[in-house]
Amino acid sequence: MKITRRNFLQMLGITGVAAGGISQVWAIPDKWIETLQYGPRIETWKMSTCGQCPAGCGIRVRLIDGIPVRVFGNPIAPVNSGFICPMGEAGLELLYHPDRIRQPMRRKGKKGESSWEPISWEEALGRMSQGLLGLLKKKQGDRFGFFFGDRNTLLTHFAGDFVTRMDSGNFFPWRAPGINELGLWQAFGEFPPLSFDLEKADYLLTFGTNLLDGPPSPVYFNRLYGKMKDSRPRTGLKMVHVDGRMSQAGKNATEWLQVRPGSMGVLALGMAYVILRDKNFDEEFIARYTLDFRGGKEDFPSMLSRYYPPDKVSAITGIPPETVLRLAREFSSAKAPLALSGGVADRSETALFTQWAVASLNVLSGSFSASRLWREPAPLPWGPFPVSSVNTRTGVFSIKPSLAQDTDIPAHWASEELPHLRSAGKLPDLNMLMIAQVDPLYLPIDRKPWQEWLSRIPEVVQFATLIDDTSPYADLVLPTTTYLEQWDATLPVPNLPFSQLGLQQPVVPPLSGARPMGDVLLLMATEAGITLLPEKPKSYAGYLETRMKTVFASGKGTPYFETVSLNFLEELRKRGWQVYSYPAFADFWRLLQEKGGWWDPGEYPDADWKKRKKFAFPSVARFDALLKERALLSQGQGPQKRDTPLHTLLEAPIRKTETPDSFLLAPFTTLMNMTGEGASQPLLQELSGLIPRVYWKPWAEMHPERAERLSLKDGDLVRVVSGKGSVTLCVKVVPTVSPEILGVPFGQGHKESGRYAKNIGTNPVALIDPLVDPLSGRASWQSTHVRVEKVNK
Ligand code: SF4
Repeated sequence: MKITRRNFLQMLGITGVAAGGISQVWAIPDKWIETLQYGPRIETWKMSTCGQCPAGCGIRVRLIDGIPVRVFGNPIAPVNSGFICPMGEAGLELLYHPDRIRQPMRRKGKKGESSWEPISWEEALGRMSQGLLGLLKKKQGDRFGFFFGDRNTLLTHFAGDFVTRMDSGNFFPWRAPGINELGLWQAFGEFPPLSFDLEKADYLLTFGTNLLDGPPSPVYFNRLYGKMKDSRPRTGLKMVHVDGRMSQAGKNATEWLQVRPGSMGVLALGMAYVILRDKNFDEEFIARYTLDFRGGKEDFPSMLSRYYPPDKVSAITGIPPETVLRLAREFSSAKAPLALSGGVADRSETALFTQWAVASLNVLSGSFSASRLWREPAPLPWGPFPVSSVNTRTGVFSIKPSLAQDTDIPAHWASEELPHLRSAGKLPDLNMLMIAQVDPLYLPIDRKPWQEWLSRIPEVVQFATLIDDTSPYADLVLPTTTYLEQWDATLPVPNLPFSQLGLQQPVVPPLSGARPMGDVLLLMATEAGITLLPEKPKSYAGYLETRMKTVFASGKGTPYFETVSLNFLEELRKRGWQVYSYPAFADFWRLLQEKGGWWDPGEYPDADWKKRKKFAFPSVARFDALLKERALLSQGQGPQKRDTPLHTLLEAPIRKTETPDSFLLAPFTTLMNMTGEGASQPLLQELSGLIPRVYWKPWAEMHPERAERLSLKDGDLVRVVSGKGSVTLCVKVVPTVSPEILGVPFGQGHKESGRYAKNIGTNPVALIDPLVDPLSGRASWQSTHVRVEKVNK
């Protein structure tokens, strides 16, 4: 019998309608089908780590005759204990995507045109190494840059090291900041952000942070939320979620507070006002570990009493004064209160202001003094990696041993602003830019400056699995492997209270003509005479193995293990024993591959406040100084002069006069499409619309009162118009969104990214005014007013 793709899938147990659908979705290499025709149909499993997002969930891939057929969770991986999210499940759709790039391509037409011609790997590599060598010979390393989507793997640091050894500081990482990262960094220069142990909290207050639908680790936090909810009758845990839209975090909380967009920080400071007035604050922590709590008429308490009493806070936030009072009293009376901010709170003009205010609330309430609640950032076994930073005065990017608080901020906060920094004359003219794991022509709110900037760079080299919106601006596109075809290691997940390394190992050899990016970079380094490690590994797998030797030599932690209690493990460690026996590195390395990774459950000490800089409270004087220091980040868009309270200026766009048809646009992310890349996978396209029952297109969530006033009902089409353009969306009338906002899912509206994403749906980010948080440089998604017009069908 000749085996077709359809009956191949039937043999794998995928039959009927499912087979019909999947056989169109998976482009399985023909040679495999022929192999399978005569094969013994042997089932095997391979452990690895999911690479669809930076959370590092362990996976177990089922193979039939060596062919991957399904992805499951690794039951002994500490982050996910056998569970995975839909993105993790959809990984094979990426591996077998019918539109994967099959060989290197060079641009034929002008920049911006999708016109390509295939070339050989030899030619592509020769062209790259010539370019790099040319820069090194002319001592123009600073004309080289790398724009890199940071997926929290070793590869990020490898690429950063590559840039440094090229004598350049132009490493531009791109990723979402961790929970509380902006506030903790601002308050005491903490980077990476502190970890926290959610299970130790008895009052959880989340400001915009949706731990269940996005970074840092949705599977880990979904499991934890389930456990915490079940034990609520016993523990009395209260969970309050503050947001303009009821996300999964709001649905799972005991209370959801609808707050006006951009005003979460004002609510936090209103609560701080009440806590101070009640004299119910953590005096000991404040005396020992903070700066300028009382320092004159411009200090923190005087700022609170002048601008943030509950009636004023209520007018700004829309939260009644009595609720502000109640919340403050409940929070400061809890034994282990924990306030977190992130998610949409990171994507507003008040991003850093909000997170700093929330960090202050943790100080006042005694959260930082609560036992086992806050932990030191999970350590890497080989010590900390250098930090990519940008100087807010000069715009200079560099990689430093550790982040200096002064005028540096983490580089990933501001990497969306690269073209602006370039036009302000702060970045050197680049001769060569590499781009990997990120689509900068899809993500930013202002694409034109990106198009112009990429058009000016003579050699843009893109590593990609699919042609995306950025590819038309690349001069060379190199097909790169997916995480299922390459070696790597995911690093400890920010904010989680333990250290882990999730091993990524090839489940199959590279399909089609793709090559692992790590190997290509290593080859380029060798050709350019750059040494990345003294051991001079010949492949990226060798580089990874060398790093793992350090882990083995440290004697710390263990490869993932089955059900052994932590107490038992501690007992073994005290006696100098290990769960597994691995006398030589080869044994350790084999175990890592067999189990899927390494972790150190014991190495998560309480936060040591004596070790770090003192916590600086926000104050009027500090805001003034910061606005001046960081004027470069907002490029004239943010407030340059402050003679009224900071929040009043930052919220200016929100305070526009409302008309019956005007809304504040509030793009949100879903678990199915956290970064926009999920749109390339049909399973995720299908699942994204499962709850609202709107498939393969985005929708607009509207409060019933507003829908009634506009004579709109579920399923009506509306044109959503901003100063930048318009899109047509399907209305979903839901009570879980504040009347003021229009919630629109993010992730569709790609110009490219394969047949399942190309020209499907719309991208709400394209409607957004180009505004940034003037204190952090983060682009604001929450400040654009839109008008809604009914479309007659
Ligand atoms: S949370 Fe991230 S790492 Fe975990 S399964 Fe989902 S996509 Fe993969």
